Amino acid sequence: MSLKKNIVILGAGYGGILTAKKIAKKLKKNEDVTITLIDKNAYHTMLTELHEVAAGRVPEESIRIDLEKVFYGRPVKIVLDEITDIDFDSKSLKGSKTSYAYDYLVLGTGSKPTFYGCEGAQEHSLTLWSYEDALKIKYHILEAFEKASVAKTPEMRAHLLTFVVIGCGFTGIEMIGELAEWTDELCFNFNIPKEEVKLYVLDLLPKVLPMFDDKLIKKTEKRLEKMGVEVLTSSTITEVKENAVCIKGKECIPTYTTIWAAGIEGSDILQHVDGEDIKKQARHRVECDQYLRSVDHEEVFVVGDNVFFIPEGEERPVPQMVENAEHSAKLVSHNIAATVKGEALKSYQPVFHGAMVCIGGRYGVAQVGTPKKEFVFSGFIAMLIKHMINMVYFFEVLGFNKVWTYMMHEFFHVKNRRSFFGGHFSKRSPNFWLVPLRLFVGAKWFLEGIVKMGKIASDPSYIFLLPSKVDVSGATEVVEEVVETVKLAADAGFMDKVLHYSAVFSEWGGALPVPEFVTNIVDWSMDLVFYQPTGEFTALASVFQTTMVVGEILIGLALIGGLFTMLASAASVVMGAMIWVSGTAPAEMLWYMAAGVALIAGSGSTFGLDYYVLPFLKKRWMKLKFVQKWYLFT
Ligand SMILES: Cc1cc2nc3c(=O)[nH]c(=O)nc-3n(C[C@H](O)[C@H](O)[C@H](O)COP(=O)(O)OP(=O)(O)OC[C@H]3O[C@@H](n4cnc5c(N)ncnc54)[C@H](O)[C@@H]3O)c2cc1C
Repeated sequence: MSLKKNIVILGAGYGGILTAKKIAKKLKKNEDVTITLIDKNAYHTMLTELHEVAAGRVPEESIRIDLEKVFYGRPVKIVLDEITDIDFDSKSLKGSKTSYAYDYLVLGTGSKPTFYGCEGAQEHSLTLWSYEDALKIKYHILEAFEKASVAKTPEMRAHLLTFVVIGCGFTGIEMIGELAEWTDELCFNFNIPKEEVKLYVLDLLPKVLPMFDDKLIKKTEKRLEKMGVEVLTSSTITEVKENAVCIKGKECIPTYTTIWAAGIEGSDILQHVDGEDIKKQARHRVECDQYLRSVDHEEVFVVGDNVFFIPEGEERPVPQMVENAEHSAKLVSHNIAATVKGEALKSYQPVFHGAMVCIGGRYGVAQVGTPKKEFVFSGFIAMLIKHMINMVYFFEVLGFNKVWTYMMHEFFHVKNRRSFFGGHFSKRSPNFWLVPLRLFVGAKWFLEGIVKMGKIASDPSYIFLLPSKVDVSGATEVVEEVVETVKLAADAGFMDKVLHYSAVFSEWGGALPVPEFVTNIVDWSMDLVFYQPTGEFTALASVFQTTMVVGEILIGLALIGGLFTMLASAASVVMGAMIWVSGTAPAEMLWYMAAGVALIAGSGSTFGLDYYVLPFLKKRWMKLKFVQKWYLFT
């Protein structure tokens, strides 16, 4: 029998995945433990983005993160199994395949929708709490539109085009907002007038997002109404039928689609385990002590939605939200490592920083800060906060890879302008239009470099890319003139400035102006590296000059051949900027830089070597161990 301590984490959700990563890091040198992460799925689901898949904004695979990828090269064993029972006395989990013994168990099994005993709700509504749920909703909505487009009677068509979301909390509002946004595209694709689509969001409570400030509530309601959603608060649902939702004191709403987003309770496995074996509270959450251990079992730790704990000085238990999953994962990983090492445990004292809700991809509301000082935001800023926070989480889980793909899905590849940046970053055009520009810029750099290389070859000691300090008479005049120009221009109006600059620069040979503070910094650093106290050049000056010239030739060749064009174009911009700050850039350097920006995003991927070389290199790159371990692939 193995003497190693088995740490088993049940559930690879927000809490479980971070706990496993953090424990693996803390105990990486400890050979006396094994870490096992068990989940019924081979992937982690980004639940907070489910509505985006359900309403066709982002691709389906974008909300799944493969567990093998996350834990590559880390001492965590991934087990794909559904746990059906837990024996807390013998410390074992019963799965559908086999049983798993544990010395320390982390419960992170999350939640599931609850129906509060509402008649017909479970049977006749769709839920939004898993990847499969999101797909089901998406295809159901598509089917409703498709059927409506060929419906034989107006009643049938109206029934198919009525959508009801029950629940005005985060999930319900995000779902209806996203659906409202999607209907524009669906109506266009299925040739259905927008007025025919009826969208409802209902709740028993008198207002939407009741945890938010009244200002945000009003803004949310206003936004939803603008999007064509009828908000029915103070509406008690009496029954969900196969083809209708019934509200107390009102007529039933006939509908083909009911989405239930009205509340949650503990996962199936927590419902299954006996309250005698492990103490539960508030719809199957595990009652925890201050160290986030079950109050009945010291070796059972709890993370995420499963935690029932009321922090000192608070009246309510910690919220079932991602931030709680993150904080609890941090604490539990510390406490398990501390238990293994015989060190002191830490208490759970979480501080929460608010919440953000998207109403479609273009608008959101957020209430953030600390319990003492909260700020409310709506629109662009709220969406920016939401995306930033998501990216921080994704970076923790799957590093650069996930942040990159998230940005692609949310900003750069988004369709129908469904992003808070609109479609500005996602407008796509074929790369072959850029081929002439790429060849032209490449040729310019190449010829520049060749001419300069000729000068170096004829006299290697001649430094012409850096100003000489030995005879400064001409240069001083130029510098004085630029300083005078900047001063004059600062006093003039904008157009006057432009005219003034262009007059002086054409007189001065067209060099671009450089702000004085930049010149000062450049002068200081150049003095340090390239000049001796006597004003003579150091040896580094000639190395620098040769490197710059070789760089120009290489950039030119790379652009002409379409090889590594992303790097070459970035180098074109950087080189242009360097020449500019040195105060020797002619006005044409501006278009070198502008063209560099235009060419940066894959201009070599058509009619260039990148088309062949990059896929080949990418395959090899992705196989490198450090690349997989540090998620440096895309
Ligand atoms: C549509 C939607 C939008 C949301 N939006 C927000 C938001 O904007 N902000 C926010 O803070 N929160 C939001 N939430 C809530 C947030 O997603 C949860 O608080 C969070 O996922 C809880 O993390 P967790 O680790 O406890 O559980 P989960 O992330 O739910 O993970 C539980 C894991 O356990 C696994 N599992 C469960 N039972 C078993 C079993 N018997 N055997 C094996 N594996 C099992 C599941 O497969 C799953 O991987 C949203 C939720 C949804 C559904």
